[in-house]
Amino acid sequence: MGHHGRMRRWNGWGDEAVETRLGDEGRRFLETRVGPARPVGDAALADVVAAVPPSRLAAHPLLSHDPELRVRRARGQSFADWTALRAGRLDAVPDAVARPVDGAQVRELIEHARTVGARLIPYGGGTSVVGGVTTRPSPDPLITVDLGSLAGIRDLDERSGLVTVGSGTTGPALATALAARGLAIGHEPQSWELATVGGWVAARGSGLRSQGVGRIEQLFAGGVLEAPAGTLDMPAFPASAAGPDLRQLVLGSEGRLGILTDVVLRAMPLPELDRLDAWALPGWAAGEEAVRAVARARPVLDILRLSTPVETRTLLAFVDRPSQMRALSAYLRARRVPSDWALLLVGVAGRRRVAKAARAEAASILRSFKAVPVPALAATWSRTRFRSPYLRNALWAAGYGADTLETATDWTRLPALLARLEATIEQALAPRGERVHVLTHLSHLYPSGSSLYLTFLFRLAAGPEETLDRWRTIKRAASETISAEGATISHHHGVGVDHAPYLAAEKGPLGMAALEAMVRTFDPEGLMNPGVLLSDRHG
Ligand SMILES: Cc1cc2nc3c(=O)[nH]c(=O)nc-3n(C[C@H](O)[C@H](O)[C@H](O)COP(=O)(O)OP(=O)(O)OC[C@H]3O[C@@H](n4cnc5c(N)ncnc54)[C@H](O)[C@@H]3O)c2cc1C
Repeated sequence: MGHHGRMRRWNGWGDEAVETRLGDEGRRFLETRVGPARPVGDAALADVVAAVPPSRLAAHPLLSHDPELRVRRARGQSFADWTALRAGRLDAVPDAVARPVDGAQVRELIEHARTVGARLIPYGGGTSVVGGVTTRPSPDPLITVDLGSLAGIRDLDERSGLVTVGSGTTGPALATALAARGLAIGHEPQSWELATVGGWVAARGSGLRSQGVGRIEQLFAGGVLEAPAGTLDMPAFPASAAGPDLRQLVLGSEGRLGILTDVVLRAMPLPELDRLDAWALPGWAAGEEAVRAVARARPVLDILRLSTPVETRTLLAFVDRPSQMRALSAYLRARRVPSDWALLLVGVAGRRRVAKAARAEAASILRSFKAVPVPALAATWSRTRFRSPYLRNALWAAGYGADTLETATDWTRLPALLARLEATIEQALAPRGERVHVLTHLSHLYPSGSSLYLTFLFRLAAGPEETLDRWRTIKRAASETISAEGATISHHHGVGVDHAPYLAAEKGPLGMAALEAMVRTFDPEGLMNPGVLLSDRHG
């Protein structure tokens, strides 16, 4: 089954044809921050495929046992996934991969799994960064269910703006089809080119247009979930008071309840005006107060994203255009902006007059915090925003590991959480004599608080065990800090396996019991995605 479509990288991000390199400026910056690094070699795909163990499942028309396909669907995009793929050390691959083309085949697969005692791992775009699609050693045979063939628009109610799509549809495919009808969805995660509609819903994601229709729960109107216990139909009501909303149970269910086959999304008219402005805020404190004031005033913005001064400097180093940066510094100096300025992006999208009014309102609030416009950076960001995931490939090739984590809290707790979290991550590898560079932005701002999105960079070790150990040390310290500060373990990446140990602290014993009962109701035999979302007692 050679359905790989375009040539997707098997051990990194994105299309093989897209090469990104780490520029001199970025390399110099990292050398001063965490030290010079040495590249570590990657395993070859052919060797990894040759080492794939025989499948524990007999042949079946819906199953492929092709060893290369089993390797290509074994992992997602978490740091542990990357380390395993780069080193070619997969402790498990699926026994088979299925590519159902409709809901009937999904039901047939569930029945087959029940009959042969296999477990199913739903796989949309495989861009989970928390281990949501990771194959792990299991006493039972594992089938990864690639939903890529459940794609395309099934129905479009233009009058209501309701579009029914196959759950395996990707963002670009959906956007292109809808744009032809003058419609847009507006959910644009940075994983845009590969992530699927089903994955957006199942992992409860949020897009870059964070102030607009960023969160998927605003867009998810209904659909169909095929569960081991039956089929759940979710009608696309605009709103409903008919008791608890079952759509909210499916949002964030991460493949534990069943497989979403059809998803109904709320489409909006394409914006008349879609524009982005960049501002320099004089320091972090001013920036934080400014975005809090904007978020609480609630002008209808599309994007609001504030980088810390350290993130601002890091982003500029990676732009790798020294002469443009010198001109920028001169411009900012002439306007008396201090050197520890913070970059703020403000986007508007929608009807021209409404968008213009929102832009003017935001600008007037920002000027009261002494913000200075930096038009050149708005263009740079728009040009590079979907390219930045590729930078991770370039960093790895240069010997640097990069990962991100995110949380959300209220405005009152935010300053202390940010300070503790950054300090914890920065210090996490000090006992090993390694440094960590950490940078943060606020990108999803709410009247009551904000998300915090942190990126951390460190040197890869010569061997994968030590690299993984470095990452685990940082991740554990950060997750414990988030938990201890009463913030959420994830604002939009989801739980997967990486955050599962921290879920109980957030939901409480009664909450966990309710979630476990819900999973048992939809999936009494535990066929679906074991260990994801809720750690399995039997391991
Ligand atoms: C470079 C990069 C950037 C990212 N940026 C963002 C971002 O900006 N915003 C954001 O929210 N996330 C982001 N993510 C995380 C990830 O892309 C999102 O969680 C995305 O929604 C996952 O979609 P997917 O189709 O790839 O799902 P997968 O990774 O395939 O699956 C995610 C989870 O959902 C389950 N699942 C998938 N499809 C179905 C289905 N049809 N039915 C039932 N269960 C299903 C899987 O079992 C798994 O548990 C990023 C990831 C990467 C690697």
